[in-house]
Amino acid sequence: MSPAPLDRSTIWPYQGGEPGEFYYQRYGHPAGAEAEEALGELEGGYALLFPSGSAAVTSLVLTLLEPGKTIALADGAYYGTGVLMRLLGQWGLRVVEFDQTGAPPDGADLVWIESPSNPLLTIPDFEAAAAHPAPVVCDATAATPVYLRALERGADFVLHSATKFLGGHHDVLLGAVVSKTEADCERLKEFRTRTGIVAAPDVAWLLLRSLKTLRVRMERITANAQEIAARLEAHSAVERLRYPGFGGLMSFDVTGGAEAARRVETSTKLIKNATSLGGVDSVLETRARWESGRVPENLVRLSVGLEDVDELWADLEQALA
Ligand code: PLP
Repeated sequence: MSPAPLDRSTIWPYQGGEPGEFYYQRYGHPAGAEAEEALGELEGGYALLFPSGSAAVTSLVLTLLEPGKTIALADGAYYGTGVLMRLLGQWGLRVVEFDQTGAPPDGADLVWIESPSNPLLTIPDFEAAAAHPAPVVCDATAATPVYLRALERGADFVLHSATKFLGGHHDVLLGAVVSKTEADCERLKEFRTRTGIVAAPDVAWLLLRSLKTLRVRMERITANAQEIAARLEAHSAVERLRYPGFGGLMSFDVTGGAEAARRVETSTKLIKNATSLGGVDSVLETRARWESGRVPENLVRLSVGLEDVDELWADLEQALA
């Protein structure tokens, strides 16, 4: 019962002289449609896939906004989202950052929150965001629909880097937007089709495979992460631990500053020193290499996977020693 066999066709014959459901891959393809159906059901909305999370951000922003419009972006959101939005400033878009634990600023044309934020793990004030007159986008990459259905909390769009927990095996680069209304989904789909920012059948098929295990992966990852978080919090070499209580993403500040944190990230063996998050294999890295000034120099981001929890802890303990 794997997903339907992968169809890589770029064209399908017309039926009775007319285009059928699928006719040219840029408009849609079977694996993409099946994966969108599955993800839409999980989030309670209308899903569209994009070739990466960043492609999903780009497409959503350019579909919703015109030159002169302002995005209110959660100041703790994934640093790459802010970098990308400022790049889009070339086309007349403005970005103002705000503390997502409070209300978004007046006058914004789009509100962008992230739950929980990467890597500071703040949770937005959903009620305050929903009370703002502008449409609300929630990046729920680190929560997944297992722990958050943001459309039910007042968001108009949910965004995922499906590269992370949804794909879950470090072998898929993919993004998704789930719209609350079919009309918004159609508007976004028109933009996607015309710009050609379309995810390929192979990665859509891999997402379908991964969604079958999403819940069980997230539950086991959470059990591992809760245990690791509790042990890290009690460790004398850890100054501060950030973990929202669910999911696999956490961050901690190592006593002794940047050098001590670097020693930790280069001393683990089972846990790979690599970027990204959300896979079955645990990874960790200091984040200041990417976003210096936004995060403490001694902050280590850890994404907990499916390994044996005592083996994970033994690895961290010897790295912290
Ligand atoms: N949103 C979050 C929360 C992320 O962590 C990332 C990537 O790290 C992205 C969006 C961008 O996704 P992608 O790398 O798939 O383009």
